[in-house]
Amino acid sequence: LDLILSAVEVALRDPLRTIRDLFYFPQNAEGESLLYFCGNSLGLQPKNVRQYVLQELDDWAKYGVEGHFHAKNPWMPYHELLTEQMAGIVGAMPVETVVMNTLTTNLHLMMASFYRPTPERYKILIESDAFPSDRYAVASQAQWHRFDPSDAVLELRPRSGEVLIRAEDIASTLEQEGSKIALVMLGGVNYYTGQVFDFKEIARMAHAQGCMVGFDMAHGAGNIPLQLHDSGADFAVWCTYKYLNAGPGNLAGCFVHERHARHFDLPRFAGWWGHNKTTRFNMRYAFDPLPGAEGWQLSNPPILSLAALRASLDVFTQAGGIGVLREKSVALTRYMEALLLQLPTDRIQIITPAGPEQRGCQLSIQVRNADKSLHERITAAGVISDWREPDVIRVAPVPLYNSFQDVADFVERLRTCLEVAG
Ligand SMILES: *Cc1c(COP(=O)(O)O)cnc(C)c1O
Repeated sequence: LDLILSAVEVALRDPLRTIRDLFYFPQNAEGESLLYFCGNSLGLQPKNVRQYVLQELDDWAKYGVEGHFHAKNPWMPYHELLTEQMAGIVGAMPVETVVMNTLTTNLHLMMASFYRPTPERYKILIESDAFPSDRYAVASQAQWHRFDPSDAVLELRPRSGEVLIRAEDIASTLEQEGSKIALVMLGGVNYYTGQVFDFKEIARMAHAQGCMVGFDMAHGAGNIPLQLHDSGADFAVWCTYKYLNAGPGNLAGCFVHERHARHFDLPRFAGWWGHNKTTRFNMRYAFDPLPGAEGWQLSNPPILSLAALRASLDVFTQAGGIGVLREKSVALTRYMEALLLQLPTDRIQIITPAGPEQRGCQLSIQVRNADKSLHERITAAGVISDWREPDVIRVAPVPLYNSFQDVADFVERLRTCLEVAG
């Protein structure tokens, strides 16, 4: 009851109530808004995106190539317009932050520089239930260096009968295998369970063993305060279309710790956009990388996509930033958890950790004896959520655009669907 009361209290003084109106909500055939809980897969469209993209379309029409210098927001340095806000969201310094490419591409670029296996130290540590793209990426990197992925890719597994990975098991794996591990590459927030790892402690332990450390923050960026710089990780990557609402397939973020900003001898895959800005157009000089994360850029970026991202970052700023969002998020998720635990059924188990320091907004709900037909009923009841085989519903109440009322409505509809399921 205390939890519900405190949630109600936060709801009443919810400073983000009106921010919800800055987003479009998908509707059913009757024109009623659906309950949207899939911000962990694709964030909703901020209404200002159209105007930001139109600006660039207009300037392209008006200026042609001259838009690189004369557009209202000149395209040459356009990516720089995003750096400060993005750095703020992930707790990094601007020099450590760049928006470029897409997530898996950035992961490969980072591994080209930070996965440097030797015959003695060649393993990559990853969670056993990592997002498939990350597993493919690390396995193919090992293979690229002529190692057998079944030997080189080391998986962190939950203990049998458990779903979460215990901190002490990460510690003991690093102690036992650390001298053979070249790179620790974990999803900072697990996409399936919503478990948040202790980034700083993992980086500290891994560095003590001489490993490099990278995090895939796809489910962390815009969800929880990350403090990437303080974590000490060597690199991190994240996408912008989940909690950052930049639109399907939009560009990704990349973090390279400041300590590597001037490591120009690090091997890297290079392109002209990572080259010294003052001589970039001379086209004849040897590659002269920019200091910091910018030095890993390859191509001139797609401005229309960056415009959409800029619009969504402006909404983030307008909402007061990640600290304000996190405060509401903790209350909102707690509220959902409390309502779920009060349902008169023993079929439901929340596999996401119970403490807010170990999770973001997502709850992964395991439903005993359920199959996909349950998800179909939930969908028919006007809820957009995510189903993971065999029996898990993932829902993410997002503080930017989900209300406490949304949460209450969802749990009520879930209750009805479970009753029908018998
Ligand atoms: C969403 C997600 C991806 C998707 O990768 P793209 O390259 O953006 O298609 C990869 N890894 C994780 C952990 C994710 O959550």
